[in-house]
Amino acid sequence: MAAAAFTAVYDYLVIGGGSGGIASARRAALHGAKTALVEYQRLGGTCVNVGCVPKKVMWNTASMAEALHDAPDYGFDVTVKGFSWSSIRTKRDEYIKRLNGIYQGNLERDKIDILRGRARFVGPKQVSVDGKIYSAKHILIATGSYAKLPDVPGAHHGITSDGFFELNEQPKKVAVVGAGYIAVELAGIFRALGSEVSLLVRHDGVLRKFDSMLHKGVEEELTASGVNLLLNTHVSSVTKDDSGHLSLALTNGTTQSGFDCLVWAIGRSPTIEDLDLEKTGVSLDKDGLIKVDEFQNTTHEGIHAVGDVASHWQLTPVAIAAGRRLSERLFAGKTDLKLEYENIASVVFSHPALGTVGLSEEDAIAKHGKDNLKIYSATFTNMYHSMTTRKTKTRVKLVCLGKEEKVIGVHVIGIGADEMIQGFAVAVKMGATKAQFDDTVAIHPTASEELVTLR
Ligand code: FAD
Ligand code: NDP
Repeated sequence: MAAAAFTAVYDYLVIGGGSGGIASARRAALHGAKTALVEYQRLGGTCVNVGCVPKKVMWNTASMAEALHDAPDYGFDVTVKGFSWSSIRTKRDEYIKRLNGIYQGNLERDKIDILRGRARFVGPKQVSVDGKIYSAKHILIATGSYAKLPDVPGAHHGITSDGFFELNEQPKKVAVVGAGYIAVELAGIFRALGSEVSLLVRHDGVLRKFDSMLHKGVEEELTASGVNLLLNTHVSSVTKDDSGHLSLALTNGTTQSGFDCLVWAIGRSPTIEDLDLEKTGVSLDKDGLIKVDEFQNTTHEGIHAVGDVASHWQLTPVAIAAGRRLSERLFAGKTDLKLEYENIASVVFSHPALGTVGLSEEDAIAKHGKDNLKIYSATFTNMYHSMTTRKTKTRVKLVCLGKEEKVIGVHVIGIGADEMIQGFAVAVKMGATKAQFDDTVAIHPTASEELVTLR
């Protein structure tokens, strides 16, 4: 049989120029691997282009609106003459363009070949890009995920988070459907900036997999901010009238109408359709994710996967950490190195934000039994609000295990929770006990001091 005419053979061929792919490619190149990275869209992937980065700009914008609202309570005579969604969009897009360029520069400096086009497998270790065939000793699939749309008539009248970042004007009345990170974050941003918002949730609450204190806290804050929270609500169809307004028919026979924007935020699916994985021995798990072992190996020797395409932890730092560890293992001889998918801290940029690390109280009870746990919690009002008419609550919880009261869960919702949780994640990772938390002298006056003074 004639040998395949490869355009190039690499040590490492990375498919996907997002969080996981770029991090892994750069680490491999650092260790001297001849590396190429395939990308058909803008460099940086979901996080940079349509995820964490533009979302955080919009969350900051929304937080600015809250601060302006509170300013008179702190003695300022402020007149806000308006808010221009389109101008923040333009500045945000320019910032992202700069980041795209920085990513390109970094890859070029690291001597990584950037192959422009969509990759697909044409053989077990052969990848076609723009009509050329490439091979490598190791191939990484880091193709990420895309937003799901529901199978209901008229679903196409709605947008996903991708469409959110394309909005030129602020919608007046928005329906957000979903119950996870994105639904909560986008509903909060729209509301803080003054849109009328309905959040349609199919079960009895949002963020159901999070600690109950967090999801109840988020629901209370959403409602207090004026979001119309519709629980146990299922959309059966969407229609658009002549004026462009959307109506959502619900399975209970009622209709919600008059929306100028509908956002579906119901989860994401792994991006695998175009890869022609059937040409390889790469298998999928029961949820359709690429099946990997603890070392990010797929079921085909020499093909690996990291990030959203292969993990339920769909977070940028998780994709980066898995990608870097993989390259350390493959190209720097650290043969046992792998990512521990435990005690991963996470923040939902709600209003106020929530931060969480370790087990929720409910998961801890299921794993260790109620009798082996001690729960410490408190609810209070941040001193910031001592001067403001607008109020939010802060809630904190420690989940402690066994006689030594090892802290196995830290959960916070309140002003500053987003910046608070990273440090506590270090303590949890190190196996800190409640006594060690208590032995840490508090910083006063802060909200985080509550976590080292809980009784
Ligand atoms: P991606 O970053 O999506 O990169 C995959 C890349 O592969 C893409 O650039 C794609 O174009 C490319 N690709 C796909 N198929 C092919 C192919 N066949 N050939 C060539 N290239 C291909 N995470 C956080 O940690 N914090 C946050 O605040 C946060 N906010 C988010 C907000 C939103 C609205 C969304 C949608 C996500 C957010 N995330 C956040 C999640 C985070 O963006 C993802 O977990 C992360 O980007 C996953 O990285 P990845 O490398 O797996 O995939
Ligand atoms: P999530 O998986 O967080 O939440 C989606 C939720 O929507 C489901 O859990 C489900 O909740 C509900 N849902 C599913 N199908 C339907 C349906 N047909 N109709 C109505 N509701 C439905 O997905 P997201 O899209 O919010 O975000 C994707 C991922 O991106 C997140 O999991 C997260 O990892 C990442 N992300 C991270 C952020 C951060 O770090 N701050 C911010 C944004 C995204 P239920 O079963 O309770 O109904």
